[in-house]
Amino acid sequence: MRILISNDDGVTAPGLAALHAALVDYAECVVIAPDQDKSGASSSLTLDRPLHPQTLANGFISLNGTPTDCVHLGLNGLLAQTPDMVVSGINLGANLGDDVLYSGTVAAALEGRFLGNTSLAFSLLSRQPDNLPTAAYIARRLVEAQSRLQLPPRTVLNVNIPNLPLEHIRGIQLTRLGHRARAAAPTKVVNPRGKEGYWIAVAGDAEDGGPGTDFHAVMQGYVSITPLQLDRTFNDAFEQLDGWLEGLL
Ligand code: MN
Repeated sequence: MRILISNDDGVTAPGLAALHAALVDYAECVVIAPDQDKSGASSSLTLDRPLHPQTLANGFISLNGTPTDCVHLGLNGLLAQTPDMVVSGINLGANLGDDVLYSGTVAAALEGRFLGNTSLAFSLLSRQPDNLPTAAYIARRLVEAQSRLQLPPRTVLNVNIPNLPLEHIRGIQLTRLGHRARAAAPTKVVNPRGKEGYWIAVAGDAEDGGPGTDFHAVMQGYVSITPLQLDRTFNDAFEQLDGWLEGLL
């Protein structure tokens, strides 16, 4: 098994090192990660300049691009052998509900969707690294178990881990995505030379976070696993749209 590891917090992030350390004696691991924090990059590709991979002293490959660039190159020619599986993270911070739209952590996993093995995205519900060992242990267990998993291609597992020591984790729950409320307005700032700008605010709170959702599971101390698929077609809208389009053209 050859595993391509990436993230969106950047190649020097502690979550990336923790994930690599958890998997390195299980499989042949290659790390390709952005040279800076690309959180919020979603599935963006860099098309306006060339990408330059740089191998660091620890063997990780740093790329001046996005998480999707990293996995895209990793699966399409950069490596001597194509990886079998993509694992992303461990992100410091939740990727719950609407977060998956913006998440570079989830995006890196999604870029592995053509592989036979289901890609995994891992996020810890903390900006601090204290409970990374919890997340790393769970990542290792799930990556090992993945060999028994037969999901269709273009499926990703979005895994969120509560910010707890391992002995306080109550188990694993399969969940659906909840929803967040709208974020607060961006904060207006002025730089020392008088130029105005905006800091985008943190994500909104859970608005749909009841039982069955990813929000609820992690709040109750469970690891949340939400299976994601690329197809976002809203099949239930077809009937209404059929009526709406009748006689239009
Ligand atoms: Mn991130």
